[in-house]
Amino acid sequence: MLDFKTKTLNCPHCKTRTKHKCYYLAKRGITEKGFNYYEGFVPDLIFGLCSLCNNFTLWINDKIIYPQLSCTPQPTEDMPLGIKETFLEAREIVMKSPRAASALLRLSLQKLIKHLGEKSRNLETAVLNLVDKGLSKKFYDALLVVRVIGKNAVKPGVINSKDDVKTAIALFNLLNMLVESTITQQRKVNQLYTSLPKLKPVKRRKKTQRKKTKIVKKRAIIPKPTLLYR
Ligand SMILES: [Zn+2]
Repeated sequence: MLDFKTKTLNCPHCKTRTKHKCYYLAKRGITEKGFNYYEGFVPDLIFGLCSLCNNFTLWINDKIIYPQLSCTPQPTEDMPLGIKETFLEAREIVMKSPRAASALLRLSLQKLIKHLGEKSRNLETAVLNLVDKGLSKKFYDALLVVRVIGKNAVKPGVINSKDDVKTAIALFNLLNMLVESTITQQRKVNQLYTSLPKLKPVKRRKKTQRKKTKIVKKRAIIPKPTLLYR
């Protein structure tokens, strides 16, 4: 949210808390007097210009109307319902309070890990278990960086002053990627399997069996001619 006293804002473009130049927008009419005919200001509509990235934002009073949280991802299709609700709640408030959003997102990550069958109360142990089951080690590394696990981990649901918009966006993306690497991938494999024609699985033959078949081949009896040969 734009702080009108200090004119600072978590810029949705460069994702940094920066000073903004704020302007009221003037109306101009296209009349017989020309384009420059001045018609006063648009009430409550504010144009903000970021001092760092020079991109603009549009506001009606203290509510941002552009960009519309375009930097925040939508929850991925297979995200379990309860986790999706928290994700969307965090999405609503991320620009207003990235710290509160990060707290909600860490809680969502904890819920997701539990949903994936990991019962361990220690989140780091739970993530390592998932890595043992085939999850990319990169997830473990990324979760360390955003302080979901590790020495500097922040408890899920707890507000931490170090969390900024960049951290919150990373947490949104990590949640989506974790769902895609586990639930979505499993669903797709299941779909592929059910779409395949049902064949008997090919069993690997043991060495002894191979020997036997060789012998059988040597002793093979010439098959009786079928009707075609008669
Ligand atoms: Zn900016």
